[in-house]
Amino acid sequence: MNTADDNHELSLLCEQVRRSPEPIAILYEHGEVAFINSAMQQSLPGGNLPGQVLSTLIESEAHLLITLYPTDEESSAGRQLLAIRLGHYWLVTFLEREVDPQVERLSKLLEEAQKSSITDPLTGLWNRKQFDEFLRIEIPRAERYGQPICLIVLDIDHFKLVNDEQGHAVGDRVLQQLSHLMSQQIRLVDSLFRWGGEEFAILLPNTAISATRFIAERLRQAVSQFRFDLEGDITVSIGAAELERGETALSWFKRADEAMYAAKYQGRNRVVCADAITDRFISGEDADSSVLMPWKPIYECGHPLIDQQHQELFRLGNKMISASLDETVGKEHFLLLADELIEHCTQHFSDEEDILANIGYDGFYKHQKAHNGLLSRARKLRNQAQTGTVATRDVIDFLVNKLVKQHLLTADMDFFEQLMKPSAFENKAIGN
Ligand code: GH3
Ligand code: MG
Ligand code: MG
Repeated sequence: MNTADDNHELSLLCEQVRRSPEPIAILYEHGEVAFINSAMQQSLPGGNLPGQVLSTLIESEAHLLITLYPTDEESSAGRQLLAIRLGHYWLVTFLEREVDPQVERLSKLLEEAQKSSITDPLTGLWNRKQFDEFLRIEIPRAERYGQPICLIVLDIDHFKLVNDEQGHAVGDRVLQQLSHLMSQQIRLVDSLFRWGGEEFAILLPNTAISATRFIAERLRQAVSQFRFDLEGDITVSIGAAELERGETALSWFKRADEAMYAAKYQGRNRVVCADAITDRFISGEDADSSVLMPWKPIYECGHPLIDQQHQELFRLGNKMISASLDETVGKEHFLLLADELIEHCTQHFSDEEDILANIGYDGFYKHQKAHNGLLSRARKLRNQAQTGTVATRDVIDFLVNKLVKQHLLTADMDFFEQLMKPSAFENKAIGN
């Protein structure tokens, strides 16, 4: 757990303890006092726990009883304290006649705080924090046993319209109904998370992409056929990816997310499964033609110049990949290929910016900033490769995967839709 998560759990716990009529103190695992509620303060000599209690706690692992020896005339002297340890905290209270129900009550308090720190309050699903925790556990597990594992990313289509036209309460209700519907559709071994606002993730252990495609398609249909409490229908766009050997959680999630965006771009209400990662060629051992990036019709935005330049970038990227598979190709040649790609990209970004400014694209400045960042990083890496401070394969990786492919599949997809509207080419220049 990181500090932010700890704080979240602690603040939930403090809130519960503050509201409790029982006298309770919360201590960190090392014994420092984190919080004492008012019922407890009133019953303790000087409103605080004696040092003797704290030092006993530090040495203890499980729950225990501590006798408060008479140190003064206060009423609590001689009474026994019950301290129970759960996770990162101790809960301390006065011992009543029976220990067991008290332990049970306090444990429940802590468990509830822990549960709410990993649960989304609106839908009751696990939240993003718990999603990260699952990834941390499930990825090594799948790798250890050599089992496939898949990730589904699901986003509601045009959800903003639901809020805008029918109100936020209706939107909230849709999120709840959708969560319920999805939890009925998935298997017991699968885990469902609310990843963000109207974006959900599903982890499917021991499942290959072929089965996942089927599950995702069934889910998509179930959503589109369900009668939600609103006017109209709800559809979802779904992306799925299978974990590749040695892949990081971030890369895996990104591939599933990109597939989801591709589903949006292709018209929404559909399932798209991600390709295998394209940069396997870097390891050298999987060197064959399948490592090349095929151009696909879904990458087209309908603007002839942009489409032609994007295709050219793919061609130049593939040229670099092919060269990297050829052992006779030296560094000088790579640098020439890199220059060729960077030069074309510079021209393309400039042309694309003119077109986007012309249609009044609302993400123009953000997009321009992304272009500038990519180009300056590309030039820097290229120069570092020349001086030998960076390996050529890192330059190829950046140019092919980040500059060409990833930018097209994420940032560019954002304006594709605006470009494809018939009104897009009317003059609505930025600043007008
Ligand atoms: P797209 O098909 O491209 O995904 O369009 P969209 O409108 O769904 O996407 P966008 O990301 O523009 O809007 C997401 C909306 O989800 C905006 C926000 O108001 C809404 N939303 C996010 N969280 C909640 C929530 O907890 N409750 C409600 N009612 N709406 C939410
Ligand atoms: Mg959406
Ligand atoms: Mg969204």
